[in-house]
Amino acid sequence: MNVALADRAQRAAKPPQHLADLSEPERDSWAESLGLPRMRARQTARHYFGKLERTASCMTDLPAAGRDELVATLLPPLLTRARQISADGGRTVKTLYHLTGGAAVETVLMAYPDRITLCVSSQAGCGMGCPFCATGKLGLVRNLSAAEILEQVRLAARACQGGIFGGQKRLTNVVFMGMGEPLANYKALTRAIAGIAGQGGSGFGLSARNVTVSTCGLVEPMDRLAGEGRPVRLALSLHAPDDPARDGLVPINRRYGVERTLAAAYRYYEATGRRVSIEYALIRDINDQAWRATQLAAKLCQYGTGWVHVNPIPLNPVPGSIWTASRPSVQEEFLRRLAAAGLSVTLRDTRGADIDGACGQLAAKEVVRTNG
Ligand code: SAH
Ligand code: SF4
Repeated sequence: MNVALADRAQRAAKPPQHLADLSEPERDSWAESLGLPRMRARQTARHYFGKLERTASCMTDLPAAGRDELVATLLPPLLTRARQISADGGRTVKTLYHLTGGAAVETVLMAYPDRITLCVSSQAGCGMGCPFCATGKLGLVRNLSAAEILEQVRLAARACQGGIFGGQKRLTNVVFMGMGEPLANYKALTRAIAGIAGQGGSGFGLSARNVTVSTCGLVEPMDRLAGEGRPVRLALSLHAPDDPARDGLVPINRRYGVERTLAAAYRYYEATGRRVSIEYALIRDINDQAWRATQLAAKLCQYGTGWVHVNPIPLNPVPGSIWTASRPSVQEEFLRRLAAAGLSVTLRDTRGADIDGACGQLAAKEVVRTNG
């Protein structure tokens, strides 16, 4: 095997099993298989989820003999912080982590007056190949485990508690808008949502309503998620209302087409009562024409206006790409047409654009640096 292949194989290697990968009954069985009382798994989970703790010396209710080994087994280290940078006057903090095996992922933590939102990664790289996206350029390195996703949340929640934004604050929202396609890593995603929204010793206790899953539009998993009985918000990255344009921007569209994708998004709204967000990166002269805004409005309004909220965002240009953000006047007209059709529309803020804030850009840079 040549060096690059060996390196890729190492980065794709599975992480060790962690308590947060398992359901409560599975945790009990794991403790038993280690020759321990079930209670040990529950006690450890209470420290992990309830106190955001994974340091053995803090867990004084566990017997001192064997405590270090127990914690090292149930809560193995999964993420190593590699870099942290802040922007927007300290209100946006981006962190790059290395996973076991060396793959890189990133999170972005954003403080607003009424909430603190963490953007998490669900995969290292992504296999969906959207040409405007830095993560897409990497290809899929590997799926993250549920515990690797939950570790991103735990570390951010601890940072908020510890005063990263001044004073003791609480992490309130989680959005799956970092690296990766969450619905292509379904089992880990749903286990992670259970860990984020679980109460007491089985989760971090956030509201499921404050969790957003963003997808490029995988129809079958969208339907499956609708049936999970958790009221998480769905964001659909549409980026074009017509198949010719969407086929180029979001290649998975060649499998489903815009109509089927929108129908699945509407079913999600019907099943959960949660308004679906439509994400639309405005790319100059590619998908930002006024007639496309009219077409987008017509396609969305075939199901009415109350089920959906449109979130256009100026493209954050990926280095080396010829595409760039729309002109302000064009952007304005695009939004005006959507609003005129009775749709609720907000231009998404571009937090952290100056620190490669968009999807995967920091980690993509890191890969270029380490490989090149
Ligand atoms: N794979 C999922 C979630 C991660 S991407 C998805 O595609 O929805 C999160 C969001 O960032 C998506 O809406 C995606 O289209 C958008 N995005 C990716 N690259 C971008 C860029 N360069 N500028 C603006 N938005 C971008
Ligand atoms: Fe993957 Fe989303 Fe990027 Fe497309 S936009 S390549 S689905 S991370």
